[in-house]
Amino acid sequence: MSLDLLAHLLLGLAFLLALGFHRHRAAQLLLVLWLMLAGVGGAEARWEQGALRFGPWLLLFSVLLPEPRLLSRRHALYLALLGLAVLITLAAPAHSLGSLLTVASVPGLGMDAAAATLTALAAGLCALRGLWRRQPIELGLAGMLALAAAGLAQPGTLAGWLIAAAVVAMGAIGHAGWRMAFLDPLTGLPNRRALDETLARLSGGFALAMVDVDHFKSFNDTHGHDAGDIVLRRVARALAAQAGGRAFRYGGEEFCVVYPGREAKAAAEALDVARAAIEALRIELPPKPGKGRTGKRVQVSVTVSGGAAARTPERRSAAEVLKTADQALYRAKAKGRNRVLAA
Ligand code: GH3
Ligand code: MG
Ligand code: MG
Repeated sequence: MSLDLLAHLLLGLAFLLALGFHRHRAAQLLLVLWLMLAGVGGAEARWEQGALRFGPWLLLFSVLLPEPRLLSRRHALYLALLGLAVLITLAAPAHSLGSLLTVASVPGLGMDAAAATLTALAAGLCALRGLWRRQPIELGLAGMLALAAAGLAQPGTLAGWLIAAAVVAMGAIGHAGWRMAFLDPLTGLPNRRALDETLARLSGGFALAMVDVDHFKSFNDTHGHDAGDIVLRRVARALAAQAGGRAFRYGGEEFCVVYPGREAKAAAEALDVARAAIEALRIELPPKPGKGRTGKRVQVSVTVSGGAAARTPERRSAAEVLKTADQALYRAKAKGRNRVLAA
């Protein structure tokens, strides 16, 4: 199989994967890269000119826009521009194509250098967005664009570089899919699905702890749901860092911490460190919408209760241990909350 064919195949596959996972920016970029590869390897000189002059601008445009929905005007506009670029390349009379290519050129740079520079710029912007928004997929797409830029900078090598770019794109899209499946989007903690898989794989001795935010319904009623979300993120961060085990978001305002090889008492003691840290948190809420900078910043605090249980000869399955931990949590609530009890 030729490098060209392999590059086309992998870019096509990555494009379908991007569409399937609703990663529309990735799909846009892959479509443009695929057309650029077709143009550069094309039979006519104008195809190559069109690909190298128009393609990088489309890459840059895609990176500058927020992630579009599939059925959005922004996405339709992008596809219309892409279609226009292809149409002009294929069908415009030679003299108008010439002037349009000049418009799309970068002063002082030859065609290949301009294409590589603009694509590298798109890669840089994509990386900045990825770092700023903490979106790993944007970093992956930045890597893909950087590889494409390297290929454009060295005429004749594009197919090889785009094979690597397509593989990086597939990795980034796959990784984003993994995040969607196993991480809770609000807190960033592993989610219930990840917990179920972890519990199914546990062997030997282990303890589990259930954690629940105290009086959270009235917190939401007083401060609003958005403030509740901020608090949940902070509680999750404290549990992940200080509970001494692996923390998961169980659902709602409940968390589960897994302690491989621990007894119930040791798990409860470890969890109590996080409980005390959460009690000490002073969480600053942003001003209420509409109040702008003049709005008063409110500091809030919350407490959590926890219950821990370990595997014993009588309680062998994770489901039984979890149920016992939940009963211990219930007792902690009944005893006045803001405490951790072992079963
Ligand atoms: P207790 O101390 O007995 O646990 O009282 P509680 O009010 O915390 O218990 P309850 O189960 O009645 O309330 C849970 C509340 O958690 C209700 C719901 O509004 C809130 N909640 C669940 N998930 C979320 C979420 O993702 N974000 C926000 N802001 N609130 C949530
Ligand atoms: Mg609850
Ligand atoms: Mg609660």
